[in-house]
Amino acid sequence: MIQLVDSGAVRQWCEARRAEGQRIGFVPTMGALHAGHLSLMRIAAQHADALVVSIFVNPLQFGPSEDLARYPRDLPGDGAKCAEAGVALLYCPTAEQLYPPGFQTRVEVASLARGLCGERRPGHFSGVCTVVAKLLNVVGPCVAVFGAKDYQQLQVIRRMVVDLDQPVQIVSGPIVREADGVAMSSRNAHLTAAERQQAPCLHAALQQARALVAAGERDPERVLASARAAIERAPLARLDYLELRDAQTLAPLTELLPGGTLLALAVYFGATRLIDNAVL
Ligand code: AMP
Repeated sequence: MIQLVDSGAVRQWCEARRAEGQRIGFVPTMGALHAGHLSLMRIAAQHADALVVSIFVNPLQFGPSEDLARYPRDLPGDGAKCAEAGVALLYCPTAEQLYPPGFQTRVEVASLARGLCGERRPGHFSGVCTVVAKLLNVVGPCVAVFGAKDYQQLQVIRRMVVDLDQPVQIVSGPIVREADGVAMSSRNAHLTAAERQQAPCLHAALQQARALVAAGERDPERVLASARAAIERAPLARLDYLELRDAQTLAPLTELLPGGTLLALAVYFGATRLIDNAVL
């Protein structure tokens, strides 16, 4: 595995692979890698000959009062995990390099990026899209893999590559969970022992809603109420949002759509914000 910081060197390396007829698969991450990230790498490897992973904690997608400074970082550990996962190139750009003095361009996706996390984190998806567009331009992959854990992000990126004619296939990977149902996330490391013990309430809320719908419930308010009750049973949890949306357009819903209703939620434990979702 080679590790590069410089975007020009990464572009050259990727061009050389394409010239050899290799297909590049790409997994962008913010590091502190866990089994969720590794599952995306396995999916990318199935679609490609050469696997490229990026690690970049993107300041553009963090709000001024968010956790950029305390976001977990472990580059040596991440490097070892990538090497073991068969990553051919680990791309670790710096903020100075991606956003040099004078940088002033933003990529904005409109309605899909509003609501849910977009409403609570103004500018977040514009930061995500801007960096993902840049990384895709440098790497030039055939396939890029994103996790369904960040469901809105996945839909926003799908829209962006279509709208900008970017020649890349976006593939999604299912949510990878701990044994107790907690979705793997780099931010789980911030939870206290007591918070971690109550963190399964997000998955419990989704499971409760899923069970209710499977039993024939069609009233969205009752589905939301049962999910909310599961969060309220965890005294350290503070609900940020809990919403039903059209799983394709992310438009708000007044009735459940057969096979296409997204239940998405965000919950604070202290200053740590966790998200999760399920398509009911
Ligand atoms: P992050 O490092 O948090 O920016 O995530 C990088 C990629 O990994 C994104 O596409 C995420 O959706 C994905 N990801 C994060 N956690 C999980 C998980 N538990 N299961 C599947 N994919 C995940």
